[in-house]
Amino acid sequence: MEYRELVKLYDDLNNTSKRLEKTYLISEFLKKTSEKDIKDIILLIRGRIFPEWNRTEIGISTRLVMKAIATASGTSMEKVELEWKRTGDLGNAGTSLLKKGQQMSLFQEELSTEEIVKDLKKVAIMEGHGSTDQKTKLISKLLNSASNNEVKYIIRTVLEDMRTGASEGILRDAICWAFFREEAKIIYGKGTLDVVKDEDREHYNEYIDLVQNAIDMTNDFPLVAETAKKEGEEGLKKIDIILGKPIKVMLYPKAVDIKDAFSIVGEKAVFEYKYDGFRLQIHKRGEDITIFTRRLDNVTSRFPDIIRAVKKHIKAKDCILDGEVVGYDKDNGKYLPFQSISQRIRRKYNIEEMAKKFPVELNLFDIIYIDGKNLLKEPFIKRREILEKNVEQEEKKLLLAKQIITNDEKKANDFYKEALKQGFEGIMAKSLEGPYKPGRKVGYGVKLKPVMEELDLVITKAEWGTGKRGKWLTSYTVGFYDDEGEIVEIGKVSSGLKELESEAEGGNVTFNQMTETLKPLIIKEEGKEAIVKPEVIIEVHYEEIQKSPTYSSGYALRFPRIIRVRDDKGLDELATYEQIDKLFKKQRS
Ligand code: AMP
Repeated sequence: MEYRELVKLYDDLNNTSKRLEKTYLISEFLKKTSEKDIKDIILLIRGRIFPEWNRTEIGISTRLVMKAIATASGTSMEKVELEWKRTGDLGNAGTSLLKKGQQMSLFQEELSTEEIVKDLKKVAIMEGHGSTDQKTKLISKLLNSASNNEVKYIIRTVLEDMRTGASEGILRDAICWAFFREEAKIIYGKGTLDVVKDEDREHYNEYIDLVQNAIDMTNDFPLVAETAKKEGEEGLKKIDIILGKPIKVMLYPKAVDIKDAFSIVGEKAVFEYKYDGFRLQIHKRGEDITIFTRRLDNVTSRFPDIIRAVKKHIKAKDCILDGEVVGYDKDNGKYLPFQSISQRIRRKYNIEEMAKKFPVELNLFDIIYIDGKNLLKEPFIKRREILEKNVEQEEKKLLLAKQIITNDEKKANDFYKEALKQGFEGIMAKSLEGPYKPGRKVGYGVKLKPVMEELDLVITKAEWGTGKRGKWLTSYTVGFYDDEGEIVEIGKVSSGLKELESEAEGGNVTFNQMTETLKPLIIKEEGKEAIVKPEVIIEVHYEEIQKSPTYSSGYALRFPRIIRVRDDKGLDELATYEQIDKLFKKQRS
């Protein structure tokens, strides 16, 4: 496909903030996309080159993109920087610096989406000596062969920052609208707000579920879109879990107290300890074991000890397990806080040494697949039974999450107290009958922790400190996504981090570490303030949520405090308006 056509779609998407209109535009585009192109296009629409399950990133810093723009336009880095500051967007800066005359484009060949995908895939895997130069060359070559309007979007794709607001939900609906329009009785048109007649809604939802289900199984939008286009309903129905390809994990909303937990998960419920470690999804195919984090990063090489434990203690030949890995002190056996595991995830070398220094225990709480059978729709109690039959437990190596089943509030409360006394973070309450819903907070399970005032937020801006803190970014503006997929801010937080490494016990983050993490993400600087690419997620505790015009969400946090960096969480797990509204109302009632 000519890239020009896709660029037109990007422009159209940027011209509307309405979800239905975006869905309409994408669905029309998908309809006219050829079978050959559909896999690339579905990714490019969201500015991606690799599917969700493949965590390879293009991995290009803003500095390298600046260099590529300078090379392509024959200007200096300083000039690129100035233009970036002036326009506030590196994509726009590139467009204006590379402005091409009309006559030039007459001789130019049209750039195709295949070329862009091919080149950016090359960039993503270039490594080692001289690779930076090669990457710069390849990107500047691409920029040189692009027209004015194309430059901006190539730059945004390279930076993995597309900003067209095409969320996963919109893409799912667009696939349904494009390929099941008649079957799902969709009556939309441009500008129409009614997608289906009221009486057809249930029927329509079945088709949305069909697409969602295929996405859940594979995490692979390209595969799902291509199958829908080529093989329709029957094709999608055949899509199943593929061992070795990660599935999004099920998420758990928060309950206020035991009573609330029962009301969400059912009169009789399972209660489990909430282990404070790192979520792992483990795929076992015979002796071949792959380990993913909840963000679907492949961390197999980091956990040789877990691989050994799974081989030894799991009886099933093939399976997918869900659990929490927890670090413990090798001298006294006590559990260590979450941060000690983070170190193991980050470490790339001397892994066995790390494994000895920071031993771990795996606590399994779910199973989603066993020997050719998909268990997602099985009730939790049945999944647990299967898990029990297939695990030989061993202390400090591999265990099942400790649980009780009760309908008695007092018993549940005692279990909660006992968990806290033993140093666990809290408990989970789970529905006996609940299926496993990948990637969603559906309420088949809830978490209960003593701290109510807690939000996961992303850093959008940071401010340089003063005096002896001048070399660090010390104050952070935080936000979350609104229902349209735009970031809204909710406050500024500056307490909770440490000044010295020596004070940062248990892996707490220092100002220096946070500054180093944020620096490569800086998009623009104005005075003391740096605007950063929203990537770093932090857990913030606070005393109160207030209504306030100061921040774009309309809310502000009183006395916020950073508890930890949540590098295990993804942007789709941030706080939501719904959650914040609920917390706000709760404190008033
Ligand atoms: P949070 O990280 O606070 O959002 O809480 C949810 C997380 O708790 C899950 O994603 C798991 O990583 C973790 N967890 C610890 N113990 C359990 C358990 N028994 N069942 C489910 N999740 C657990």
